[in-house]
Amino acid sequence: VTREIWEHARIATMQASGSYGLIEDASIVTENRMIAWVGASAALPADMSVGANQAHDCAGRCITPGLIDSHTHLAYASNRAHEFEMRLAGMDYAEIARQGGGILSTVRATRAATEPDLFAAAQRRLSALLDEGVTTAEIKSGYGLDRETELRQLRVARELGRRNPITIHATYLGLHAVPPEFPDANAYVDFVVSDVLPAVAAEGLADTADAFCDPIAFSPAQTTRFFTAAKALGLRVKLHADQRMPGGGGALAARNLALSADHLEYAQPSDLQAMACAGTVAVLLPGAFYYLRETTRPPIAALRDLGIPIALATDCNPGTSPTTSLLLMLNMACTLFDLSPQEALAGVTRNAARALGIQAQTGTIEIGKRADFVVWNVEDPAELAYAMGASSCAQIVQNGLLVKNTLA
Ligand SMILES: [Zn+2]
Repeated sequence: VTREIWEHARIATMQASGSYGLIEDASIVTENRMIAWVGASAALPADMSVGANQAHDCAGRCITPGLIDSHTHLAYASNRAHEFEMRLAGMDYAEIARQGGGILSTVRATRAATEPDLFAAAQRRLSALLDEGVTTAEIKSGYGLDRETELRQLRVARELGRRNPITIHATYLGLHAVPPEFPDANAYVDFVVSDVLPAVAAEGLADTADAFCDPIAFSPAQTTRFFTAAKALGLRVKLHADQRMPGGGGALAARNLALSADHLEYAQPSDLQAMACAGTVAVLLPGAFYYLRETTRPPIAALRDLGIPIALATDCNPGTSPTTSLLLMLNMACTLFDLSPQEALAGVTRNAARALGIQAQTGTIEIGKRADFVVWNVEDPAELAYAMGASSCAQIVQNGLLVKNTLA
């Protein structure tokens, strides 16, 4: 038995919704990579402290669950800095797209990248997340749109999980955009359902499937067809929904029992009712909202009223959210969406785990869950959202192993 103890911490267990679940002067005992005990240090049973292989004195620092980034597109090649310049010089999105910009410019670069080059680019972004205390990250494909490149992106995601101290959740974003070699969206959906999806499932390369339901991308009918095929192969589903205009995306996600509906700036009351009934998590992406200078905010008050779990994620992608700081998203969710620091932290722990369907394994600090937690150089958990993306990580424990330690 490998047993380690963390003592004298303020632990934000995030066990109950609506609070940090704080325990003062608290201890965590890990055993064989799991949380074996958590509670006030004074209540630690004697048989837990004897035979511990190592004890860590946290000296009053805060501990939270390991952070979970539940929505990223980080396995892409190149960047879109030139487009950013064009936008700032006054060019609109349609003109940039005519000049070869937009999602399809990243598709060209990602198709052209070798697997080692794609891995190296993705590794740099993942390393930045890891360094901030992220212990679980979702990675979507969707920049290949042909069979070979989609599989390559997903293999890179799986390989990142094998080579890094992080749990990777891989998502086949089959319906992201229609690639230029297809005459229309229906023809592309035919190809995805008959050729790519079965290959993804056969190789076990994805845990979930995702789609972009929007007038510039895929219709509700096309999305439903893709989801039905994905579910028949054992995949759970997620949806990019109601980002640019009302489109019934939230309700579509709920009808398909999606784990989450993501973006939701234009979600309507009927969408939210359906999500509340189905238990669909709302994943909010303040980085994209900020980057696109959106002014219509997600319906936060209604989400709260209906008790819909709110998760937050980076949406790390080259076009609309080129960030690798999940901590910055906590601050942005508070400043842009008026979330409380407690809600923001729940959005990258407890509710993010639900958005990936892994709440039985991680997302809170409780007995029987995987030992994923972070010791922060802060006294109060609100400091994590208060600071603008400052990394104040002292120790990171992922799957029971101390993977970062700045405490001597
Ligand atoms: Zn996205």
